[in-house]
Amino acid sequence: MAQKPIDSRAVPLDRTRNIGIMAHVDAGKTTTTERILFYTGVTSRIGEVDEGSTVTDWMRQEQERGISITAAATTFGWKGCVVNLIDTPGHVDFTMEVERSLRVLDGAIAVFSAVEGVEPQSETVWRQADRYRIPRLAFINKCDREGADPDRVITEMKEKLGARPIAIQMAVGSADTDEGFHSVIDLITMRARTWDMASFGAKFEDGPIPHSLMEDASLARESMIEAIAEHDDELMASWVSGRELSIEQIRRSLRRVTLHGHGVPTLVGAAYRNQGIHNLLDAVLDYLPSPADVAEIRGRDPDDPSGPTAAPTLARHITVEDAEKQPLAALAFKVQFDDAGGQLTFVRVYTGVLRAGDSVLNATKGHNEQVGRLVRMFANHREDIRQIEAGMIGAVVYPAARSESGPLHLGPAVHPTVQGVDGVHYRGRLATGDTLCDPRAPILLDPIVAPNPVMGIVVEPDSEADHAKLLSALERLAIEDPSFRVNADPESGQIVISGMGELHLEIVVDRLRREFGVHARVGNPQVAYRETVTRRAEGENKFVRQLGPRGEYGHVQLVVEPTDRGGGYVYENRASTSDIPQEHAPAVEAGVAEAVERGVLAGRPMTDLRVQVVGGSYHPVDSNNYAFKVAGSKAFVAAANQAGPTLLEPIMSLEVVTPDESVGDVLGDLHARRGKVAGITVRGGVQAVACFVPMASMFGYTTDLRSRTKGRATHSLEFDHYEEVPLQIRSQIPGLIRARA
Ligand code: GDP
Repeated sequence: MAQKPIDSRAVPLDRTRNIGIMAHVDAGKTTTTERILFYTGVTSRIGEVDEGSTVTDWMRQEQERGISITAAATTFGWKGCVVNLIDTPGHVDFTMEVERSLRVLDGAIAVFSAVEGVEPQSETVWRQADRYRIPRLAFINKCDREGADPDRVITEMKEKLGARPIAIQMAVGSADTDEGFHSVIDLITMRARTWDMASFGAKFEDGPIPHSLMEDASLARESMIEAIAEHDDELMASWVSGRELSIEQIRRSLRRVTLHGHGVPTLVGAAYRNQGIHNLLDAVLDYLPSPADVAEIRGRDPDDPSGPTAAPTLARHITVEDAEKQPLAALAFKVQFDDAGGQLTFVRVYTGVLRAGDSVLNATKGHNEQVGRLVRMFANHREDIRQIEAGMIGAVVYPAARSESGPLHLGPAVHPTVQGVDGVHYRGRLATGDTLCDPRAPILLDPIVAPNPVMGIVVEPDSEADHAKLLSALERLAIEDPSFRVNADPESGQIVISGMGELHLEIVVDRLRREFGVHARVGNPQVAYRETVTRRAEGENKFVRQLGPRGEYGHVQLVVEPTDRGGGYVYENRASTSDIPQEHAPAVEAGVAEAVERGVLAGRPMTDLRVQVVGGSYHPVDSNNYAFKVAGSKAFVAAANQAGPTLLEPIMSLEVVTPDESVGDVLGDLHARRGKVAGITVRGGVQAVACFVPMASMFGYTTDLRSRTKGRATHSLEFDHYEEVPLQIRSQIPGLIRARA
């Protein structure tokens, strides 16, 4: 009998799904995920969020807070398909986690609460998914609760999200009726699914639609068909001709509409009562894309000199037949450590096959990687696999490193930011945002951009022993989460950790204490200020020193100029090799990068500037890397000081949803916080205030808003852009001793 070829995949590409579940905190994402894992046979019992025994939320503080933070990819099977479920957090403080999940998933389920409806954070995540053009299903959860109103949620999806929900089910019964929410009518098959309440919804029966509901159901079906046909010519033609529409025909059309982003199939259920999970899983297969539907991946030639921000120049077409036969292209999107200190780097393979034992090119870091062990994660265990095929997700395993607790080099920045992605080099290991590819067909996929940290806190270890523990713990945390940074304060030498918001850092500190057993004091939160330049200036430095018989010589000339806001730090070497020999060029770049991290005004990293090295000179005997590095640093400082350096502060985009009666109070308070109101929308009894406000005046806002509105207002806060710190404020900023007006 013929041997199965080694790279044959168990499930074809078009029967593969990579999906995420997006939701506002408390809408029921964890409960829905658990029910899915339970019904797909992965977990043996249903973990209850309320008891804190969840399957996906294995980190302790996640359980306590009842929110999911980390993106864990879990694989399960359903009706002959394989589904990789990528966890996405619901809280905006974890934007980075949401962004990186959106990069690697093809479709998503948006969970809404039938009671609370579309909440501000659902809007944020929805807009992010819009940006990535992710086809979505909506699951209106908690239909069993008092006050549940799926129709209102559908209206809110249209009004607040600009979405086109297409209801494919009708909920029957509610908490307001004697029998409660007990069935759904499938408007495509026109059958009713009724759950057996005695078995807590675990059993159900499909049957004919009760006579009394037939008229309502037929009307709802007509609106559904109309909504699909409006965006699908094929269905429209059949519909207007009056022909009977087959179930398959409707599903195919709805699939096309969903994949094109023209509609969101909307289902109802109550995950807590096990109602609606099977239908939801069927809908994932019926309407969400397979990797073959994504059709094309784009990237750049790693040797392309135009830089990582340039438009992609390479494209690879993906088809069911040949996705695996193409050269390898894979993206690492998440690093996690297991209990034993081993590192798992999750990768999505787009084309080709990643095999254990292969030597592949890490196009981001420019070196070859030997792929050791590969695993696939299930809810409660992991399995060794030999390969990850195109369209699939798995993890590369690195054993616990010997020097895990070894010294961490704490320079001006432990992990200097390199072009948007944190340039973490954990002994050169595969990190978030890295592309792996076939060395014979290099491609660099778009990096995953780490957002800018907006606040920091000083962490002071209690003892020497804690100091060492703290540093190794911080390194691990920074590798897992590139939106979390570690710096040494240039003035005091203290360790400053920075991140996306108060909750983000609270969780980090919590993990330091519980998971890593670090005893440390934590200072008050500080704003993550940045520095930049406002005009073009030139700088030069000649470093000459005589050391015994041999001297040292390095000479660098450079130009510094501002870029647009959001331009980051761009470095270009335009000097000829007769001025600065090739072998010394990296030393100049390193010297400049260090000085950029240190800043020239207040010890803050600089951003939105371009540095061009334009010339220099060398000495055939005395020149060395050290001299060029120092000259690069000093030339930069000289130029930056002439280039009108100034201080930038993070400006946040804030939305507060408040009851009418508190709106005056909320607005007055925002004004006092230097907020600029961008608009107010009235939404039946509440008002949504959109506003830009400096991070510096937002500490403790959550508690303050709660007491101001008796807990009735909610808000979401996200980094938006940097702005120059107003002069009158600058003098009040503590610690900015070196700041000049
Ligand atoms: P997450 O924050 O989105 O992950 O939400 P959870 O899954 O943790 O759910 C938040 C709370 O809502 C928990 O107390 C759940 O038990 C409860 N919950 C979730 N789904 C339902 C549901 O369908 N019906 C009811 N009544 N409660 C639910």
